[in-house]
Amino acid sequence: MLRAVPHTGELALIQSVRERAVRRGGTLRLGIGDDCAVLRPPAGHDILVTTDFTLEGRHFRRDWHPASSVGHRCLARGLSDLAAMGAAPVSAFLSLALPAGFLQKAAGKRWIDGFFNGLLALADRTGTPLAGGDTASAPGDAILADIVLVGSAPRGTELRRSTARAGDLLYVTGALGGAASELALLAAHPSRFVKAVPSEDHPHLFPLPRLQAGQRLRRAGLASAAIDVSDGLSTDLRHLCEESGVGAIVRADALPLHPLLAKSKDTLQGALHGGEDYELLFTAPPSARVPSSIRGVPVTEIGEIVDGTEILLEKNGQFSPLLARGWEHAL
Ligand code: ADP
Ligand code: MG
Repeated sequence: MLRAVPHTGELALIQSVRERAVRRGGTLRLGIGDDCAVLRPPAGHDILVTTDFTLEGRHFRRDWHPASSVGHRCLARGLSDLAAMGAAPVSAFLSLALPAGFLQKAAGKRWIDGFFNGLLALADRTGTPLAGGDTASAPGDAILADIVLVGSAPRGTELRRSTARAGDLLYVTGALGGAASELALLAAHPSRFVKAVPSEDHPHLFPLPRLQAGQRLRRAGLASAAIDVSDGLSTDLRHLCEESGVGAIVRADALPLHPLLAKSKDTLQGALHGGEDYELLFTAPPSARVPSSIRGVPVTEIGEIVDGTEILLEKNGQFSPLLARGWEHAL
C-alpha cells in the first residue's frame, strides 16, 4: 500500500491512477504499486519496446488541446509504433513531470483528470494496462510526459521497415492529411474543440492507432515491410525506402484524402506531407491478397516499390521527385 493517511500531491495522484488503471492478467503479472512491474511474455514471443516524449509547447498547447486529447495522444503515439511492427500491446509506463504546485490548484487537478481520462480510455479500448511510471515536479512551467510502450509478437514475425523489395505494392490504411488539417482548425478556433471525443472525425486530437490492422498484416503474413505515418507520408516513405535500399513510385490520384483535408487549398500537399496521421504505410508482394479494409479501416494501394533509391510521384502520367517534406507543425 502507498499510505494509509490522506495525502495530496504526487502520492494522491499515483493512488488515483492506480485505482483507475486497467488491470489484466496474462502477460502483466504485477502492475502499479511495487518498485517494478513484472511482465511474463507468452512462450515464444519477443518483447518490443518504444518510447515517446509528449512535451508542452512542442507536442501540445494547453490553450489549444483539451487535456483528454493530450493524454490520448501521449499513449496513441507509442501504440502506433507497436501497430507498425504488428505487435500486441502488453503494458504502458508513464513518466510525468508537472509544474510545482500544479495539483494544488483546481485548474491543475481538472487538467490532470482530463489527461488521465483520455489516456486511460484509450488504454481500455486497446487492452493496454498502465503498469507503472514516475511522477516528479518539473523544473519549469511546462508539463512533460514520456511514455514507454511494451508489446509482444511471436518470435521473429514482427514487421520491419527494412524488408521491402522491388516489385512490392505500396499501401496505406485509413486516410491522409486529416491530422494536419484538424490542427490548423484547432489553432484558429481552439474553443470549438473543447468537447471533442475520440473518433475518426478527430485525426489530430484523437488519432486511433491501427493496432488491429498491424496485427492482422503480421499474422496473415501479408506485409513485406511497414512503418507508421507519424512524420508525413513523404518522410516516412523515405525512411522505409532507405532502410530497405529501394525506391518507390507514389500515384497522386490514388492517395486516400481525409474529409477534413478535402476542404483545404492544396489537398495533394496535405496528403503527401501532413504529419501525425498515425496510419500504417506498408508493402506487400503482388501475390498477397491484401483486403480492401481491415476491421472497418480502409486499405488503399497507392504505388509500388522499385529498384534504386529514387522516390517519384506520378501525376497524370508525369513523374517528379517526391521530396521528404514531412510537415513540421508550428507548435
Ligand atoms: P519509487 O520511488 O520506488 O520509484 P514511486 O513512488 O515513484 O516508487 O511509484 C510507486 C508506484 O507508482 C510504482 O509502481 C510506479 O510504477 C507507479 N507510478 C508512479 N508514477 C506513475 C505514473 N505517472 N503513472 C503510472 N504509474 C506510476
Ligand atoms: Mg519512482
